[in-house]
Amino acid sequence: MKPYPFEYTRVSSLEEAVTLLQREDEPRIIAGGQSLVPILAMRLAAPSRLIDIGGLSALRGIERRGDVLRIGALARHAEVMASAEVAEAVPLLARAISHVAHPAVRNRGTFGGSVCLADPAAELPAVCTALGATFEVFGSDGLRTIPAREFFLDIYETALAPDEILVAAQLPVACPKERFGFEEIARRHGDFAIVGLAVRARMEGTLFAELDLCFFGASPRPVLAQNAARAVIGQELTDETQQAAVSALTADLDPQEDAQADAEMRLHLAGVLLKRRLAEIAGKERQQ
Ligand SMILES: Cc1cc2nc3c(=O)[nH]c(=O)nc-3n(C[C@H](O)[C@H](O)[C@H](O)COP(=O)(O)OP(=O)(O)OC[C@H]3O[C@@H](n4cnc5c(N)ncnc54)[C@H](O)[C@@H]3O)c2cc1C
Repeated sequence: MKPYPFEYTRVSSLEEAVTLLQREDEPRIIAGGQSLVPILAMRLAAPSRLIDIGGLSALRGIERRGDVLRIGALARHAEVMASAEVAEAVPLLARAISHVAHPAVRNRGTFGGSVCLADPAAELPAVCTALGATFEVFGSDGLRTIPAREFFLDIYETALAPDEILVAAQLPVACPKERFGFEEIARRHGDFAIVGLAVRARMEGTLFAELDLCFFGASPRPVLAQNAARAVIGQELTDETQQAAVSALTADLDPQEDAQADAEMRLHLAGVLLKRRLAEIAGKERQQ
């Protein structure tokens, strides 16, 4: 199948992109095209104009700025994976990125494209949510920021206004007392997750002082499992606290059925991942 016909503009400024977003009936930003081109080829979308932001150097680069790592929207997954700064400053992202797709897709696909697509089974939205990242976006009123925890609204739906473009993500640099966990279950390495979990914790000795558990593939958007976290915060990890956290997941998650798994299976897998990653963070990892 071939895409419906569309116009194409490679813009040379953010302002030009915003003007086109406002002027066109059905505009669509294109970055790496790794998700959008298949969508067009299957005629699942019929944009009037593709606005190619690939030439905007302001959207490139990975840079440490004080206590955040700023990742430009056009940073490719392969760049993130190879970045020594990412490995040092944001270890959770370094762990997650190798699970995003396959080398060919990672060579073109961008950080911003993955965030803006907002696939509920994608790794990067979950990492940003777990870490409490902030997104810089540009629109007709200029620059503003949106917390990642308010950005992902539903399946493929974000808090971006129709004339806004994601410019960069700011991810907090890891502190010495923080620990991180990441695991996903997928049919093959590099596929979208059936269920996944990104964890940020701060330990005080053997106690969990802070705990952010972000599940992906387990609800229509990346979700912080706050009931499960409350079952563990302020406590040591024991069989009882672990089981209480797993039981609380029914109140946190809204798993959906698709060709890969039904809701019950997803909830079960979420519990398995939770037990394993809590054990890892508490230093009690064992075969579950
Ligand atoms: C075979 C295959 C396997 C994959 N596996 C995974 C996987 O396991 N995990 C995963 O997370 N992803 C996976 N992907 C998707 C891949 O990671 C894409 O790179 C990513 O989803 C989109 O990035 P992109 O730059 O290609 O965006 P595009 O395809 O160009 O755009 C995606 C969407 O984001 C919008 N957009 C892009 N950039 C911006 C911006 N700066 N501001 C506003 N809107 C913007 C576009 O309008 C479009 O709606 C897979 C893709 C393929 C083809």
